[in-house]
Amino acid sequence: MSLATDNATRMRGPGFVRHDWTRPEVGALFDLPFPELMFRAQTVHREHFDPTEVQISTLLSIKTGGCPEDCAYCPQSARYYTGVQAEKLMTLDAVIAEARAAKSAGASRFCMGAAWRSPKDRDLDSVCEMVEAVKALGMETCATLGMLTPPQARRLKQAGLDYYNHNLDTSPEFYSRIITTRVYRDRLETLEHVRDAGIHVCCGGIVGMGETREDRVGMIATLAALPVHPESVPINMLVRVGGTPLADETPLDPIEFVRTIAVARITMPRSLVRLSAGREDMREETQALCFLAGANSIFYGPKLLTTPNPGRDRDRELMEKLGLTGME
Ligand code: SF4
Repeated sequence: MSLATDNATRMRGPGFVRHDWTRPEVGALFDLPFPELMFRAQTVHREHFDPTEVQISTLLSIKTGGCPEDCAYCPQSARYYTGVQAEKLMTLDAVIAEARAAKSAGASRFCMGAAWRSPKDRDLDSVCEMVEAVKALGMETCATLGMLTPPQARRLKQAGLDYYNHNLDTSPEFYSRIITTRVYRDRLETLEHVRDAGIHVCCGGIVGMGETREDRVGMIATLAALPVHPESVPINMLVRVGGTPLADETPLDPIEFVRTIAVARITMPRSLVRLSAGREDMREETQALCFLAGANSIFYGPKLLTTPNPGRDRDRELMEKLGLTGME
């Protein structure tokens, strides 16, 4: 990063949140010597959060498989033979039972995911009932249902939805290599509808899909230049699922993953940065480095939609070992 940018940030004072990050500036952060990058990320993290606290979310697939979209990483696309069976939308009672279990296991936020391009209005009515019921248990609610129209976003807000997840996935340039059934602009529009409805935004991406460093820079720069930063920024490591086009992708160097987390923390200082998919195959040491780099949110529970996630016991052990506690 240039001296001029450093000075500009200092003059605005600690705690100042920038929305004018440029790609060269984000690229310069990625290029920093690792100890320098980690120091900066930790400094920013401590200005805004207690570094010993981790927010815990649980993600439930309320409607699995059979999705018409062609996201190259996703085992739920109907276009790939991955062994995931298409299922109907779960019943309200079954969702409530899962939410209760998640709450008693320590989750403060309950996310409901459905494999749709966009929800039909009839399905949205059912999801709204689920949101109302989960909210009544005293948990924060989150949903990820695909693209939304402005009236659909408002309907979810009325039901009490706190967060909507809609990932940008990667850089604008690399997007068409991963998904051809929609365009980047569609994603940004849904994010605008969610914001306009007054729902908090959960938005991040996936690394390790064969993208370049420049694409990772482009993804973080796009997120950090949003007029309001997403309140949650999930950073996922690709889970290479057999049958998907990315099944044989070369794994990303774990240090590059940690760098991505650190740059997200520095550029979006008030957001919860979530260490998301890919933890099942991640060594404890890498996860510990991610927490040091400013990650302060995880998904808890043995499954992330359809892919494995560390069991609750393993997570509890790791958090105890690192002296981390759940964020209220
Ligand atoms: S990521 Fe979502 S939209 Fe894409 S194929 Fe999977 S379920 Fe469908």
